[in-house]
Amino acid sequence: MNLFVANWKMHMTRAEARAFAVELSRIVPPGGGGREIVIAPPFTALDALGDAEGRWRIGAQNVAADAKGAFTGEVCAKMLAELGCRYVIVGHSERRRLFNEGGATLVRKLERCREENLIPIYCVGETESERDDGVGNQILTDQAATLAGDPPDAPLVVAYEPVWAIGTGRAASPGDAAAARTLLAKLLSARRDLRILYGGSVTAGNCREMLEAAGMDGFLVGGASLDPKGFAAIAGFGNM
Ligand code: PEP
Repeated sequence: MNLFVANWKMHMTRAEARAFAVELSRIVPPGGGGREIVIAPPFTALDALGDAEGRWRIGAQNVAADAKGAFTGEVCAKMLAELGCRYVIVGHSERRRLFNEGGATLVRKLERCREENLIPIYCVGETESERDDGVGNQILTDQAATLAGDPPDAPLVVAYEPVWAIGTGRAASPGDAAAARTLLAKLLSARRDLRILYGGSVTAGNCREMLEAAGMDGFLVGGASLDPKGFAAIAGFGNM
């Protein structure tokens, strides 16, 4: 089933999140209408967003690398599971770049997710200079290698998010996204339950082509997910 994930980053108060949920529930039918929709708000809005009629699930944008303890400001996997989270974004480029999260930390975060039956949405993607230097595929290969110890039977979502496309208005071409998808599928061919998403300046205007031409299983959406109508349109509801 195609998967559409809203990554709100550090946007939306609880009141704004509730208003979004009311609006989205007018568009998406109970049960989700044959798509899987996930909203990943800031931690503070997680419990304001549950939908009793199964239109969407909630996910977290981050998780602590430790299971519990003296880690001021961190939120652990067990706490997220208790709130009803099903997914956790791991390895987003903003966390890799701004918070120096590399392979060793991400391996631990993946392990914490699995301990609580949380499904990681593991992000990979090359920077613009890496692409220009022709090492984009090597970067994806290295980042995918972080998943080596993750159990192959467990459900996994990988999001191909070229860093140069995030928040820039310059989405990858469907051809480039398809090539990345093919590489990731090959690298992760031992996985038994894998979905590959695209993320990076997805809008209601460019998403159909990406879904069809690039063969993606859905999207990880940042900026455009803050508008319920726009996000619903990306998920295939309402006017495109
Ligand atoms: C993201 O941050 O994961 C993202 C894809 O952002 P945007 O859609 O705004 O490019």
